[in-house]
Amino acid sequence: MNKKQLLSDLKSDLESRRDIPLIKSPNDVVFGDGNPDSRILFIGEAAGYWESVERKPFVGQSGKLLIKTLNEILGIKREDVYITNIVKARPPENRDPLPEEIETFRPYLDKEIEIVDPKIIITLGRFSMGKFIPNVTISRVHGTPKLISFLGREITIVPMYHPAAALRGTTIMNAFKEDFIRLKEFLDLIDKSVVKEAKIEDNLNQMGLF
Ligand code: URA
Repeated sequence: MNKKQLLSDLKSDLESRRDIPLIKSPNDVVFGDGNPDSRILFIGEAAGYWESVERKPFVGQSGKLLIKTLNEILGIKREDVYITNIVKARPPENRDPLPEEIETFRPYLDKEIEIVDPKIIITLGRFSMGKFIPNVTISRVHGTPKLISFLGREITIVPMYHPAAALRGTTIMNAFKEDFIRLKEFLDLIDKSVVKEAKIEDNLNQMGLF
């Protein structure tokens, strides 16, 4: 079965569940979206109002900033990458996801990662960062790639500020953009085969990039 079919089956499975917090009907599910063959997967927090209306991640104000940044700094389109959330529904009043909600949706996110099989995961905000790099603060590690072992495979995690945080103030907005500029340099190095994903941290540290 191809990746699109596997993801579609996973989405249908989630839509059929009636024992999951925040999901009262199939229409409450906001599943991942984009190119399942992408080497880059973005993970946000949870759907907001517009995401729950359009049933697609990152289509509201945060999404507009994210996609503009992808276009202008990375030179790629939304359709080039795969975008998903930790919690695949909208928490009331857009509150932070609860630990039990994160845990309930975890098997679906893990399966999504297994199917897409990305080389690079860009986490947006502290919740998705915490899944892969626990016990750190985002202000210390944002923008710095970290190679981890996850589900038996090596994946580079790049923790980024959440675009909603960038929209709240100039300091975070500047850091958000600078992190994407460094990410572009890093992707260019991989494309030129100067560094291999598996050796990114060592190489970038040696090159003084991070
Ligand atoms: N914020 C998120 O984390 N995810 C979305 O899909 C929208 C806003």
